[in-house]
Amino acid sequence: MQSPIPAYLARVVSQVQADVGGAVADYIPELATADPEHTALAIALPDGHRYLAGDADVAFSIQSMSKPFTYGLAITDNGLPAVLDKVGVEPSGEAFNEISLDASGRPRNPMINAGAIATHSLVHGADSAQRFERLRRLYSACAGRDLSVDERVYTSEAATGHRNIAMGHLLRSVNIIDCDPVDIIDGYFRQCSVEVTVADLAMMAATLANGGVQPLTGEAILDRHAVRQMLSVMTTCGMYDAAGDWLSVVGIPAKSGVAGGIIGVLPGQIGIAAFSPRLDRHGNSVRGVAMFERLSDDLGMHLMELP
Ligand code: GLN
Repeated sequence: MQSPIPAYLARVVSQVQADVGGAVADYIPELATADPEHTALAIALPDGHRYLAGDADVAFSIQSMSKPFTYGLAITDNGLPAVLDKVGVEPSGEAFNEISLDASGRPRNPMINAGAIATHSLVHGADSAQRFERLRRLYSACAGRDLSVDERVYTSEAATGHRNIAMGHLLRSVNIIDCDPVDIIDGYFRQCSVEVTVADLAMMAATLANGGVQPLTGEAILDRHAVRQMLSVMTTCGMYDAAGDWLSVVGIPAKSGVAGGIIGVLPGQIGIAAFSPRLDRHGNSVRGVAMFERLSDDLGMHLMELP
C-alpha cells in the first residue's frame, strides 16, 4: 500500500499557501531577494525514511538553525561545565539580536546571537578557517551530504552585520571570548550562510531525534548528553521571545532561522523541517509556524500530550 504521508504533507503545504502575513528579512540585503511564496516541508524518521513536500529542492541559508549544532560541538570540545561558564541556559524573553548579558556577565543562552557568537568561539580550531571547517563538516555529516557556504549571503551579512560585530567586541571586553572578535564574527557569519534545503534540515533534525546517530550512515556524530543539552535549550529558547507561546501551542523542541527555516525534533520519533521566507515579528517563519501547528495538532505531537 502507498504511504499516506506524502499526500498529507502536500496538503499541509497547500493549506498554508494562502497566508501572506509577515515579511521577508531585509536587514541582511541578500535575504530580501528570496521568493516569498516558497513553501516546503520535510520529515525524516530515525530509520532514515524521508518525506518531502512543496519547494523541497529550494536552497536557503541555515542562519540560526546552525546554533544548536555549534553548541553541540562546543560541548563536545570543552565539556558542558566549561561551556556553562561562558553561556547560560535561561530563556532571555528578548529578541534574537538583543545586546545583553546576564548578572554574571554571560550571554543568557546559546540560541540568541550573543550566546551563539560566544559558542562559536568555543569550538576548537587553530584559526577561524579551521573552526568553521569543523562546523561545516558537522552540519554536513548530520545532513548526510557535503554542505557549502552561500557566498552571496555571507558577503551580504559580513558587509552589514555591524550589530553582531559590536556584540563580538562587547563579548571580548568582558572576557567571554578570548580571541580576536573580528575573526569570530567572520566565522559566525560563515556558519549562518551555510546553504541547506528542508531535506537536509529534516535529516539534521532526525540525527538529533536519533540521539546524535545519523539515520542513514549510522555514524555517531554527537554524544547523547550533548544532544540532550541541545534539545533542552531549543525547547526553552529556540523560538526567541515566542518560545513560551511555541511550547504551549506546538510543543516540539525547535529552532528557527531568519531565512525562513524551522527545524523541530521529537526525541526517538521524528525530525521535521519547514521553510517559507516571510517572518513574523519574532523572526520566525509565518507559514513555517503554521505548518508546525498543524502537524502537532493533527498528529498529536505536542510533548505534553498523552501518547
Ligand atoms: N545570521 C543572523 C544574524 O546573526 C542569524 C539570526 C537568525 O537566524 N535569527 O542576525
